[in-house]
Amino acid sequence: MFHDKVHLQHVVRQRAFSEKKQFKVVICNPTTWDVKCVTEGCTWRVHGHMPRMETNFITTIVQPHSCLLQTTLIKHKNMMAEFVANVTYNDIVEKVGMSPFRIMLAIQNRYGYEMSYDMAWRAKQLALEKRFGNYKDSYHNLPTLLATIQVRDPRTVIHIDDYINEKGDCFLK
Ligand SMILES: [Zn+2]
Repeated sequence: MFHDKVHLQHVVRQRAFSEKKQFKVVICNPTTWDVKCVTEGCTWRVHGHMPRMETNFITTIVQPHSCLLQTTLIKHKNMMAEFVANVTYNDIVEKVGMSPFRIMLAIQNRYGYEMSYDMAWRAKQLALEKRFGNYKDSYHNLPTLLATIQVRDPRTVIHIDDYINEKGDCFLK
């Protein structure tokens, strides 16, 4: 049983990396995540679903692999920026200057797979956004922050004029 779909996906990926097996997604929607081995005819399958009226994800069918081990797997198709961001999160937020190359090296050392510079770069952005929020979030939190300051010090004067630009983004004037 998994707390949510993200946790289930994380565990399945980690397992796939250590087993050097790749999978493909058969069904993916908010209540179901069904994956199978990329090798034609292999019996491996994970069926995760969230039963009605519940919030946990339950895996109901888990079959072992019947395919042969692929020892020469260098790039794993299930390696994703979100996963990389999760497993290197502490390193990235502690060393904000950590380069994508260092992230690539960390993944290579830990899992034995190569990844692209682009993915490493994206993973870094995701980890930093999770830690510090993105530009829009920071902006969104500004009025609340100012209001808190005003409560603490009633002498604070705040004037916020919002306007929405053509793209629908909200800006302070
Ligand atoms: Zn298989």
